[in-house]
Amino acid sequence: MEQTRTLGMIQNDDVAIVPLNWDHVERWGEQLSMKSYTCNLRRSLDSIIQAPLADLLTSNIQAFIRSDPFASGGLRYALPLYQPSDERKLVAKMFKDGPLTKDRYLEVMAIQAIATKLVYEFNRYNPPQTIDFIDVRVVEIEQTHPSEDTYFTVEPYIEGDYVKHNNNAGWSNELMATAQAYSHFTWQKSGNKLIVVDLQGVAYIMTDPVIHSVNPPHSFGSTDFGREGVDSFFSTHRCNYVCDMLNLTRHPMQPRDPISTITNQLQQANEQSGPRQVNCNAAGCSALVEIGQGGVLGAAATMSDIYCNSCKRRMRLNQTFTCNMSGCKIKFSITPYRYTARGEDPPTRCPAHRNPNVPTPGGPGRSRNPGRRP
Ligand SMILES: [Zn+2]
Ligand SMILES: [Zn+2]
Ligand SMILES: [Zn+2]
Repeated sequence: MEQTRTLGMIQNDDVAIVPLNWDHVERWGEQLSMKSYTCNLRRSLDSIIQAPLADLLTSNIQAFIRSDPFASGGLRYALPLYQPSDERKLVAKMFKDGPLTKDRYLEVMAIQAIATKLVYEFNRYNPPQTIDFIDVRVVEIEQTHPSEDTYFTVEPYIEGDYVKHNNNAGWSNELMATAQAYSHFTWQKSGNKLIVVDLQGVAYIMTDPVIHSVNPPHSFGSTDFGREGVDSFFSTHRCNYVCDMLNLTRHPMQPRDPISTITNQLQQANEQSGPRQVNCNAAGCSALVEIGQGGVLGAAATMSDIYCNSCKRRMRLNQTFTCNMSGCKIKFSITPYRYTARGEDPPTRCPAHRNPNVPTPGGPGRSRNPGRRP
């Protein structure tokens, strides 16, 4: 009870982000009974598109959940979840704001289910890169009063690179081409009912796609821009060699001229729909940062300046140091975190003595002189 009450309380802005540590899960609180929902994908594509949530498989799980998030995005917190029965490390994602209704979480799962079913179909055509979507479930912790039930989506924890898959700035052209062709394919394969866009991932494991839908009796939440979303994807989509391999039919909105600077075009198409998250750029910080409607392209020029709020706060902290050059007592003022965030050591000397050729004795930061390194 205590544990889940704390979970409800993470809905405020000043929640501390605590580094991930799976060593002592029993310290997170008592093990809780939870109910897990997943979409039954053993149905026809049509029936999944028409009613993704019509056939839910449920199971009961026992797990430890830590109420301190280890990453924070603009929309959601990520909390560690551990299932001892099969030693599974999982990530629970919880909305920070807005309604915490079951429906809102189910919507995330529905989008992922349709995207997954369509990727099964896509991979049957042997594209140059097969892609995959991460498995997303909805998990519920029941309370005495049903109105207080707690929900989150749960997905596998990807060792090492968990936050990276939200950042598609480093995608290869080949993966971009495959992802773009997949989006084009979903429009055709769904019978022009919907398109799956906004693929984000690393190592071909995708998450958090967006669906724009036209015909089905279902709307996919606030990021579903309907016909406008479909048109906007195609208006910047130039078919690439993967589209050609799959013999995809051209959409009337597509530009007539052939593909030129592929990366540029693909990124433009990619940013059409909705806000997205990238990693905080500070070295060693794993927070997710919402970069807004401008998307990756809008942020690309300043990608190295994207920092989470807590890093931004640290960057405003000025400190005064005394130059450590022998004989010099000059005080200088710097914001050490501006250096640390870039993976550099803060200077230990006044501006006049910051000559990289002069050996640096120790100071507030470690020496930057390579000659002094062990
Ligand atoms: Zn195409
Ligand atoms: Zn940060
Ligand atoms: Zn000096």
